Amino acid sequence: MQQLDRQFIDNRWVSSRGERYLPVMNPYREETIAEVTAGHPDDVDDAVAAARRALPAWRELSGAQRAIYLEGFADGLSRRREELVRLSSTNNGKVLAEAGIDLDDAIACYRYYAGQARALDERQGRPVELETAGVEARCYHDPVGVVGLITPWNFPLVTSAWKLAPALAAGCTVVLKPSEVTPLPERVLAEIAQEVGLPAGVFNLLFGDGGGIGAPLAAHPGIDKVSFTGSNRVGEAVMHAAAERAADISLELGGKSPILVMEDADPEQAADWVMAGIYFNAGQICSATSRLIVHQAVAESLYDALAARIDALVLGDPLDKASDMGPLTSARQRENVQAYLAVAEQEGLRAVRDASHRTLPSRGYFLAPTLYRDVPAHSRLWREEIFGPVLCARSVASEEEAIMLANDSDFGLAATVVSAGRERAARIGRALQAGSVWLNSEQLVLPETGWGGFKRSGIGRELGPWGLSAYLAVKHLVGPA
Ligand code: NAD
Repeated sequence: MQQLDRQFIDNRWVSSRGERYLPVMNPYREETIAEVTAGHPDDVDDAVAAARRALPAWRELSGAQRAIYLEGFADGLSRRREELVRLSSTNNGKVLAEAGIDLDDAIACYRYYAGQARALDERQGRPVELETAGVEARCYHDPVGVVGLITPWNFPLVTSAWKLAPALAAGCTVVLKPSEVTPLPERVLAEIAQEVGLPAGVFNLLFGDGGGIGAPLAAHPGIDKVSFTGSNRVGEAVMHAAAERAADISLELGGKSPILVMEDADPEQAADWVMAGIYFNAGQICSATSRLIVHQAVAESLYDALAARIDALVLGDPLDKASDMGPLTSARQRENVQAYLAVAEQEGLRAVRDASHRTLPSRGYFLAPTLYRDVPAHSRLWREEIFGPVLCARSVASEEEAIMLANDSDFGLAATVVSAGRERAARIGRALQAGSVWLNSEQLVLPETGWGGFKRSGIGRELGPWGLSAYLAVKHLVGPA
């Protein structure tokens, strides 16, 4: 069995100081496929020290020079695409097609930020237009320094790319901690760093859990900024730790995103987008459109169309191309979702489809794709992030009611609007409190458009030029003209 007992610090693999080990699972086979160190705060000290040593030289490089390394990461991932798709699928449980989409997303992200790094050179030292005569001001963008990057288990290689690529482009040096649940895919980043000759200490990779690495990293005085993706509970703890030293943070947290289907929508087409919005990655998506808000005029036909599609979903081995949906990523996550299904039963929610409609594969952390209708707006299933294949639906009588219901949430990460009227869809989209709103579309995630949440879904934006700005500090040089 593989042992992930070493940390990548200063371009070398060194033994972790940690003595605890955690199993890394194949969630389909329910087998331990590796053991990973839980890490130790001393590992964090060593990695941060390496990153601090590397910072002065790395930040002095031009954006164009750093872009060459970012292209190297994109090329390195492209070369290993097939192997990484299988690894990601094996460790996370997502089906091959979805793991392929992830890889392509990550590769596109490194390439995009190579372009942004080059463009940064052009932006340096631009004169600022002033009202005051006889004074000159120029604007520069400096890297924020050494950054700690902490990622969850649902999109291996993607959530790390969204942080690592802009951080390196900006001239920051990095300590990355992937989730202990899916540590295997991220290991390739260390290999690529060595291959492309990234200067020692620019990229450090620490395996471990929240106690061993996550919390000490968030609290470390040598870390200038923490960028975190994960749950609200941990995100708030990270924010507390950063507040102790007024350190900068970005948070990408949970969601309870709505999909609005208006009365002029084609129910068959809408059903495809509803399905992709909730059952992709077995519902373990931060932007899952887990609240279906449907106009009463099309509700029944939409529920019928969804029931047929749910019945047709093939649950099985994620490595089998015939499978549409794999298991949940961990036994723990399956338990979390099962707890919500128990609440649904207690609350007497009306199921269009639930566990009683399907026989699950004999092994693997599977859950049946579930659809509840007429879910009360006060139900915990309507209000809380479930992070599993559970869709809750309600019908409404008007556009106004749909918008009000959609915005009546603590979260505001994403939304989808389905309406035959393009302008109407856009008008509804503008009224929604969410960082990404898809209009008559599947969830298109593009490196050029920002990602992040309103309200409790987070602080800051990833991707696009905003993703780069998250790792830059603005500086002005001002003096006589
Ligand atoms: P999690 O919060 O349990 O863990 C996230 C990361 O934080 C892991 O690497 C974990 O080891 C680490 N961690 C745990 N305790 C810590 C601590 N005290 N200090 C610092 N780090 C600590 O989340 P998860 O279960 O891995 O992921 C699921 C959550 O992530 C969901 O809520 C989902 O919505 C969210 N998510 C959000 C986005 C987004 O872009 N908004 C994307 C993906 C996932």
